[in-house]
Amino acid sequence: MTVKELYEKVVNGVIISDIELQRNIVYDAEKQALVIDSIYNGIPLPAFYLWQREDGILEVLDGKQRIEAIKKFKQCNLLYEGKSWKNYAYDSDLQQVVDNTELTTIICKGTEEKKREIFKRINTLGVPLSKFEVLNGLYHGDYIEGLNDYFAQDANVRKVLPPANVDRGDNKYHLLEYIYYVRKGNVFPKRNELDDYVQQHKDGSFNEEVKKIKPYIGFIRDVFGDTYKIGNVLKFKLAVKYIKDRTIWQQHKDAICKDCNAFIKSEGYKLSPSKEEDIEAMILGIVKDLHVDPKRLFTVDDKEKLLSEQKPNAEGLYECTRCHQHFAVNELTVDHINPWSKGGRTVLSNARLMCRACNSGKGNK
Ligand SMILES: [Zn+2]
Repeated sequence: MTVKELYEKVVNGVIISDIELQRNIVYDAEKQALVIDSIYNGIPLPAFYLWQREDGILEVLDGKQRIEAIKKFKQCNLLYEGKSWKNYAYDSDLQQVVDNTELTTIICKGTEEKKREIFKRINTLGVPLSKFEVLNGLYHGDYIEGLNDYFAQDANVRKVLPPANVDRGDNKYHLLEYIYYVRKGNVFPKRNELDDYVQQHKDGSFNEEVKKIKPYIGFIRDVFGDTYKIGNVLKFKLAVKYIKDRTIWQQHKDAICKDCNAFIKSEGYKLSPSKEEDIEAMILGIVKDLHVDPKRLFTVDDKEKLLSEQKPNAEGLYECTRCHQHFAVNELTVDHINPWSKGGRTVLSNARLMCRACNSGKGNK
């Protein structure tokens, strides 16, 4: 079946993909564009499994997401390389190439029981590879071997990157992301960049990477111990940023773990728009021997109490305590007088009303 034939059968209802057995997973636009890219560049797609009903209608057992991508593209609801289907009409061979590409379709029929069995087998025998398994398959060599040895030999790395999905190598993949972060000047790899990195180092030794990453793994292990509430990405970023202060962080590790866990459970943390910065500020407070309030944000009630202490002007507007201009209630925010990150408490006696401009423009609170 060509792409054009498949598409027409879908539009005419001869092929139906919205059946009960289909999973709810949805490709993002990037993955959908990859389907179009494969078709256009002659990279075969996996086979489409179709089930023929007695009335001749074909139900999709496997391939729903690929069909959705084709449909969206041909109906101009998906861009490929910045252009929609109709933009490709005159200046390119894309429409023709896509339409005429042959797809592998497998049509099965029989009892309902057999249909379910086929569906089950497609999905158990064809489980997608994890990201690490893909890397391991593509670029197996001394580098990946060295990575495996490092995990086998170093208890710290196994403790910091717990083997939740160790069989599929998720923790090893994360370690590679951290190595990339350190090597490339504190940026995490975007799509394909880690693949390229591992490909370049495929036959090289992993020893240099171990030397580079080990101090940070040690820092995380020493400071955060078995605290799993703070995400590994944040712990790693903090390790890179504060590795010079390792000794002092280690001296305060009990307070850091205790306060971080209490803070993460608090109401203020849930409401905070800047969770990572808050945790960092809190830890810096501890390290510098300031004790910060686990409650970070003021509530609506706090704001009402502050408003009730003021007499509004003739237009019903309230005064900003900094610029002394008047504002409507929804333009005023409640702010710490003594900054929270420097030990100021989240209590009314340490609160004041400020307009948004004053609040955001005053630099380090
Ligand atoms: Zn103001």
